[in-house]
Amino acid sequence: MTGPDSPDAPGPAAALRPRLPSPLTEAADGRFARRGVRLLLKRDDLIHPALVGNKWRKLAPNLTAAAGRTVLTFGGAYSNHLRATAAAGRLLGLPTVGVVRGQELADRPLNPSLARCAADGMRLRFVDRATYRRKTEPEVLAALLRAAEAPEAYVVPEGGSNAEAVRGCRDLGAELAGHADVAAVACGTGGTLAGLAAGLAPEQRALGIPVLKGGFLDGEIRRLQDRAFGGPRGTWSLDDRFHGGGYARVSPELDAFAADFEDRHGLPVERLYVAKMLHALLTLTEEGAFPRGTVLAAVVTGRPFP
Ligand SMILES: *Cc1c(COP(=O)(O)O)cnc(C)c1O
Repeated sequence: MTGPDSPDAPGPAAALRPRLPSPLTEAADGRFARRGVRLLLKRDDLIHPALVGNKWRKLAPNLTAAAGRTVLTFGGAYSNHLRATAAAGRLLGLPTVGVVRGQELADRPLNPSLARCAADGMRLRFVDRATYRRKTEPEVLAALLRAAEAPEAYVVPEGGSNAEAVRGCRDLGAELAGHADVAAVACGTGGTLAGLAAGLAPEQRALGIPVLKGGFLDGEIRRLQDRAFGGPRGTWSLDDRFHGGGYARVSPELDAFAADFEDRHGLPVERLYVAKMLHALLTLTEEGAFPRGTVLAAVVTGRPFP
């Protein structure tokens, strides 16, 4: 297929020369080897220096769909998605607006993450938490677009997980075909897992590690696959035991685990998502959850900021 609607049409983000397929490397690790398990690292953190990891896979198709319009999206004060969107705007010359949760942030100096967004040209709009929660209601969204003076903006949801994003993450699964039995990914909204599972071969399965507390993701992932593909795709499951108390909760033990993994493998380990997923894989391996001979692919969805 060719033409602007083809899934393989290059789109504006291709001009940024992403490193795709992302590298797949072996992490020789005695803790896994003892159990007869091989650990591979799927280095999505190396796709692009500014549009890091799964944010590239989710944003690239949305930048095509935006077709030059202002891109408006949402996030918290440390959102990786907001930073990636702002960087895309700078690199591609697209105006971007970031709606940030927390009116009180407007009166403080910008934290390093939001400062990076602003330096990349993103216009930041701070909204109170009650309004932020209602941001997908049509009247609330319309008011936000008016207030941002961007009534025609292309709207990307919080975390970037819409149907385009989920379809974009199918490539992640396809790149792993023939290379691993289980592909593991940390989950926020679940959009990356929804696409990854759809792209894997029938004999492979995806394992999602939610980093938020709540246990609401199963239904959300099914809904995302419905919208992206018209029904369920692939084999996937979630293990809800590894959020460590909730989003951005990083215990000293998890931090030490991540620092040790960095020493062993020379991989910068992002703490809020990637560390929890790697810790889950080691725990599951030590519990005997994977038969001997299993090949695991751990998706490195991001890298530490700054
Ligand atoms: C955003 C993000 C995720 C979560 O992706 P979802 O598609 O929302 O589940 C995982 N890892 C990193 C590093 C991220 O920035």
